[in-house]
Amino acid sequence: MKLLFLGSPGVGKGTYAQVLTDVLEIPHISTGDLLREEAKTGSELGNEIKRIMDEGGLVPDEKMLKVIEARIVKDDCENGFILDGFPRTSNQAVQLNELIEISHVLNFKANDEVIIERLSGRIVCKKCSTIFHKTGNKPKRENQCDKCDGDLYQRDDDKPEAVQKRLDVYREKTAPLIDHYTNEGLLVEVVINKPITEIKEQMIGKIKEFLEGKTETIEEIK
Ligand code: ADP
Ligand code: ZN
Repeated sequence: MKLLFLGSPGVGKGTYAQVLTDVLEIPHISTGDLLREEAKTGSELGNEIKRIMDEGGLVPDEKMLKVIEARIVKDDCENGFILDGFPRTSNQAVQLNELIEISHVLNFKANDEVIIERLSGRIVCKKCSTIFHKTGNKPKRENQCDKCDGDLYQRDDDKPEAVQKRLDVYREKTAPLIDHYTNEGLLVEVVINKPITEIKEQMIGKIKEFLEGKTETIEEIK
């Protein structure tokens, strides 16, 4: 099962992928996480990536493709994967098409107010990248990761200056992929405006039904 997760920054893709990776038993590949790992190394390339990300820009397609190519050949990808954050441009979509056959594209949607709220409240584990939210999906202990005890922090690109740029870049470069995958017959919409804590089981149920071919669409998850 090779799944792509599409959707605006802050829509919740990463959080949903975190849940679905366990249920579907396929790895969650977040390009944002892969890039943040590279940035942490402090290499020349890492510093360049960090600069681009902190501004809310896009890392060049060529570099991104190398990152993806190296990741999807690993053993854990044998039965498929969830790709979260790739492709983000039409060119990346064309290139990906040459590498894999996509099973489905899930396009996550939420209202604008929900998206802004999710972005501004997001906190992430420094060590294992697990995503939490200051009010919606709180960690059990303040500022500590439930999974690994790591410290939680707000990403530099979740600060208001970068958020606007990311939303603009999304509209210009990534949103056109929705039409592209609709035309290919691969796209299904997933509308979620509620916090993950309230809809988790329902979401798992509906998405599984769809993936098992029992339904052709996924009705709003509320
Ligand atoms: P979000 O989905 O919340 O915007 P991510 O963690 O997926 O956050 O990505 C963070 C940043 O990483 C992006 O703003 C961008 O700078 C970079 N990035 C991630 N994926 C890609 C990609 N496919 N192409 C170019 N840049 C990317
Ligand atoms: Zn952690």
